[in-house]
Amino acid sequence: MTDIPLDFGDLADLELLRRAFRAWLAEHPLPERGADEPVPVFLHRWHRQLHSGGWVGLDVPERYGGRGLTALHQVAVSDELGARGAPGVPRIGYLAHALLEFASEEQRRRLLPRMLRGDDVWCQGFSEPGAGSDLAGMSTHAERHADGHYTVNGQKLWTSYAQYSDLCLLLARTDRAGPPHTSISAFALPLDRAGVTVRPLRAAGGDDEFCELFLDDVRLEESERIGAESEGWSLAMTTVSYERNALDTGHLPKYGLLVERLRRTAHERRDTLPDGLLSEIGRCVVDYGVLVAHARRRTAERLAGQGAGPESSIDKLLMTRAEQRLYETALKVFPEELYGEGGEVLGDYFYSRAASVYGGTSQIQRNIIAKRLLNLPADLRLRTEPRDAT
Ligand SMILES: Cc1cc2nc3c(=O)[nH]c(=O)nc-3n(C[C@H](O)[C@H](O)[C@H](O)COP(=O)(O)OP(=O)(O)OC[C@H]3O[C@@H](n4cnc5c(N)ncnc54)[C@H](O)[C@@H]3O)c2cc1C
Repeated sequence: MTDIPLDFGDLADLELLRRAFRAWLAEHPLPERGADEPVPVFLHRWHRQLHSGGWVGLDVPERYGGRGLTALHQVAVSDELGARGAPGVPRIGYLAHALLEFASEEQRRRLLPRMLRGDDVWCQGFSEPGAGSDLAGMSTHAERHADGHYTVNGQKLWTSYAQYSDLCLLLARTDRAGPPHTSISAFALPLDRAGVTVRPLRAAGGDDEFCELFLDDVRLEESERIGAESEGWSLAMTTVSYERNALDTGHLPKYGLLVERLRRTAHERRDTLPDGLLSEIGRCVVDYGVLVAHARRRTAERLAGQGAGPESSIDKLLMTRAEQRLYETALKVFPEELYGEGGEVLGDYFYSRAASVYGGTSQIQRNIIAKRLLNLPADLRLRTEPRDAT
């Protein structure tokens, strides 16, 4: 890993931005969520409100609809939102990075401003019934015709909030015979295109985040392919690296609020909380501190012009551990949240169970760390020297 000094440059400039954002927030507070308003619809309203003030895509170049500032400015905005318990900027960062790195200039100028404004809501069509961890084993196929257009057939699964989305960043195999890593391409699929069926799935907890996506003879134009043909695997790896990054997920401020609440409670109820629980709270504080240190490192790397890479798998593992321990501990310390109407901790506790699956499972992150960061052989047993039989 590169050892980049944590030099954040002119922090006075950052303080000015924070002040301007606080003043704007005071006049444009988080709106009330309507009684029957689905969460994604409410968050989309919030996204548009933030964008109207210029608070979305701060680190995206101006020519693509952003403000041309830095990752540090975007982090400052997330911090301010988190400190108020407000939802962060919707999770478009990793999709925006995929477009910034792979889309053509024409596509960036057309797609990014609409994504940042919230005119187009995007979802991510990577996983399939037979291809989750083994993403390269996907079977959705895009057949190319002589005039350059494609016909796509296949099925995607676990596509979050596809029913509220306009476009899907779709991966499909453009070469059935070639090795998986050089035969996958990426497309911007309009979800209202003929042949696309979006079917929401109800999860055990009652929400309908997941969707199945059925693709039957869907026509896609060459101009809807993102990146060169067969560049889809690299695009996918870039996307998930940002998705796994402590900096880009925007989860930190939310964790921070709960860690602070736990820390305060540990002081106030020092004499009554069991020792075991006090030390669990201590671990939460440490986990959070480690995550913040990682986010600072990622910020420094980003400021130095380095994109997200396999190191994000370390962040993802740390985030998963921190999040799961945090909500488990919070439920023990605040058991009343188990029963309260819409107890927030309980909802977050349930969602934290998915942290070791979405964006690639914890086992897969460990495989990536072993192979790509530590360069360990795929099967350690094969490299063990045979014992001397004499
Ligand atoms: C909340 C949530 C939101 C999601 N949103 C999206 C989305 O918007 N778009 C999208 O495309 N996908 C999405 N997913 C899907 C997610 O990416 C997959 O669930 C994940 O990659 C795992 O794939 P799988 O479910 O097929 O499990 P499998 O790949 O079948 O894995 C099953 C088990 O086997 C283990 N395993 C598999 N291979 C290995 C290996 N080589 N070494 C060690 N262990 C292994 C896994 O770790 C896991 O424990 C979402 C998932 C969740 C939970």
